[in-house]
Amino acid sequence: MTAPTDTDDDTTMLVQFLHDRDVECPVCKYNLRMLTTPRCPECGTQIKLTIGAEVNRAWIITIIPLWMAMLPGVIFFSIALIEISQGHMVFRNFTKDPQLYLTAGFSLLSVLAAPALTLNRRWFLKRSRKLQQLIAGTVVTLAVLALVIFLMMAG
Ligand SMILES: [Zn+2]
Repeated sequence: MTAPTDTDDDTTMLVQFLHDRDVECPVCKYNLRMLTTPRCPECGTQIKLTIGAEVNRAWIITIIPLWMAMLPGVIFFSIALIEISQGHMVFRNFTKDPQLYLTAGFSLLSVLAAPALTLNRRWFLKRSRKLQQLIAGTVVTLAVLALVIFLMMAG
């Protein structure tokens, strides 16, 4: 009498899992309900039970606007450096349109925040769902406002 191997356990769990679930074969879409061996009866593909990570929507909603704002952020930063080197007041045109500070501020912030947050993804994912949604909501709101202001000024 030998102890069951991991493969036996996996097969047992796979068969149990599929006993009362409608799951499609990942290759041919054949319904694998009631499967008794780890092989698709339709196309012959070896079937295994795996785990997957749930996509964290708050993370995606937070990180995409930050990365998208980086290019304008770098442009704003370059303009500021040029103006400083020429002895001008930085963004002197902004005194006419102070709401542009929001657009410039968000873009400049994204230059720091996008890489910092990407490197600290684990920190974000360990926060409570509420805090993640709060961060995502704040970033999206600022991004939309920054874009709308920019488009209004450009148009
Ligand atoms: Zn199949």
